[in-house]
Amino acid sequence: MRKLIVAGNWKMNMTLQDGIKLAAEVNEFFKKNPTEVEVIIAPSYIHLPDVGRSLSSISLSAQNSASESAGAFTGEVSAEMIKSTGAQYVILGHSERRTYYGEDDNLLRRKIILVLEQGLKPIFCCGEILAEREAGNHFNVVKNQVETSLFDLSADELDNVVIAYEPVWAIGTGVTASPDQAQEMHAYIREIIRAKFEETAAENMTILYGGSCKPSNARELFKNPDVDGGLIGGAALKADDFIAIIQSF
Ligand code: PEP
Repeated sequence: MRKLIVAGNWKMNMTLQDGIKLAAEVNEFFKKNPTEVEVIIAPSYIHLPDVGRSLSSISLSAQNSASESAGAFTGEVSAEMIKSTGAQYVILGHSERRTYYGEDDNLLRRKIILVLEQGLKPIFCCGEILAEREAGNHFNVVKNQVETSLFDLSADELDNVVIAYEPVWAIGTGVTASPDQAQEMHAYIREIIRAKFEETAAENMTILYGGSCKPSNARELFKNPDVDGGLIGGAALKADDFIAIIQSF
């Protein structure tokens, strides 16, 4: 059964106090109004344990994870450390990590394996930049990202992976992919998975859309058969907006 997911990526926002307040508000709402959608929030590393303690109806994710398992890597945070906070998910390969910190698909493949080894679920982000779409190269770009980072996994391992298609030109820009553009790419990603893994793996794969998703456009995006939810940035920082997006299902 394919899981529907809406995940809020808080990025480098929120003090500890504000984060606990926002998390508690969202958690309380879904405690009173249970949903079939898995709701995930991703605060900064240092807030994971405290924010996690206030959650009972929603899940917790980190925004990144180290590419090594342990040792002399000053400033890094390992998958094992994330696991020990009670988090269940890790966002990997966000375009900001790729652009500002030079993360590539080979590095991400290593991170995904380390995260899976800890029993955590990676939310693997992929997506093209504007020039690549304008050149008609967007399918190839996404195919390469998915193939390089995910195709060494077994079908069982892949079962614990969530894919987030995030066209970079839509992230934080206010420009959203049209529902047709999102559906087209999501169906394509599912097709790539189907060609490499078995039918069940493709059918079970949750593929999220991310990029300026908000209450006013979430319904149209989520209506598509291959769009199984969203990865939300800006709109996840306000409880009302985030809740409204989740309720769009
Ligand atoms: C994101 O950063 O993953 C994202 C989708 O951001 P926004 O919703 O703000 O475009």
